[in-house]
Amino acid sequence: MILNSVGATIVTNDANLNSKKAFTPSSQLPESFSKDIVSDAQDIVLPNHFSNHTYVAIDIGGTLAKVVYYKSNSEQDCSGGRLNFAKFQTEDLDRCIDFLKFIMAPRASATGPAPPLAATGGGAHKFLAKLREAAAPREVVVLDEMECLISGVDYLISQVPNEVFHYSPNPTNPLDHMQFVPSPAPAEKYPYLLVNIGSGVSIIKVTAPGEFERVSGTSLGGGTFLGLASLLTGEGKSFDEILELSKRGQNSSVDMFVGDIYGQDYNKIGLKATAIASSMGKINRKDLREPASDSKDSSSPVYASEDLCSSLLFAISNNIGQIAFLNACRYNVKHIYFGGFFIRGHPVTMQTLQYAIKFWSEGKMNARFLRHEGYLGSMGCLLNLNTTNN
Ligand code: ADP
Repeated sequence: MILNSVGATIVTNDANLNSKKAFTPSSQLPESFSKDIVSDAQDIVLPNHFSNHTYVAIDIGGTLAKVVYYKSNSEQDCSGGRLNFAKFQTEDLDRCIDFLKFIMAPRASATGPAPPLAATGGGAHKFLAKLREAAAPREVVVLDEMECLISGVDYLISQVPNEVFHYSPNPTNPLDHMQFVPSPAPAEKYPYLLVNIGSGVSIIKVTAPGEFERVSGTSLGGGTFLGLASLLTGEGKSFDEILELSKRGQNSSVDMFVGDIYGQDYNKIGLKATAIASSMGKINRKDLREPASDSKDSSSPVYASEDLCSSLLFAISNNIGQIAFLNACRYNVKHIYFGGFFIRGHPVTMQTLQYAIKFWSEGKMNARFLRHEGYLGSMGCLLNLNTTNN
């Protein structure tokens, strides 16, 4: 579908609470869905896009199912509409299906047949029968995942103001870390690299609208982070709880630093004593490790969950940052965008990815982040829906 994005703005919970409250679709949602919507609310208001139909796209990945939908602001359709975002655990797809049924319910004011449900991601194939049942009488159209991802990122970086930012912490306000990057002029936009960090990681070189190649990737991604964190700290924690632990942890109790090996900086090759030489490398060095205070048995020390999560977050993020940089060099690409739900707007993750890019490029490159980082595929899926008959 072609969205009229003139005057598009992002509405966030904190920055624009009042206007959001005034007409948030989530206020009409059953209470049971509020957390899926509100926790990630960064709706995009489209004051000049008019349609009485609700357009819905879903990207069902290895871990999360992401929904984007366009809805007009009122049944009378006189004030444009907005893009709404929601996510569910893929393992809890039935809740997501209930949600789809709710938002796709016929609207009194909509005339003509409702547009198809657009679906992408592996789950669009795996769960097609379920989606068809939920969407009826709408059809379900399955679209290619990579094409959707690229359409989504292309749209967001060029059509939505204040979407792209560099991570730049403000010492007086820890919540303020976005240094916005203006939408690129058409001649400046390509080529770029998209590093999408979902359960796994895909690295895609984009050279023109719709022209791209998946040039690299790694299986050490967000799923690995979740899986190893569960093994190391015990199952049953949510991703946000693990991030929270990592924020409070000190990786120095488990990571082996250059200083642990040299006793000082290794200046000749530019390595500071505080650089991580080996992630979790201290665990096997009895002489270096400092067991957590609650450990009674020094031969099998207990490491604090916080420290292990911190170390793991650095390990995964540094690794991805380095692979991203190497691919940027390999293809002579200056701009690197990071997407995928692993980032989750988390300062430490962004700082680590950014540090890796800056460190390896000797300050010549910087990482770019997106506010709708986790919704690139579902956003593109909505855009790639052929709506000529709707
Ligand atoms: P996929 O399409 O493979 O599901 P996503 O871009 O949705 O990929 O990212 C999934 C990853 O995001 C997870 O592996 C995890 O690291 C991270 N993540 C962020 N928020 C959550 C959450 N609420 N639940 C589970 N994983 C989450």
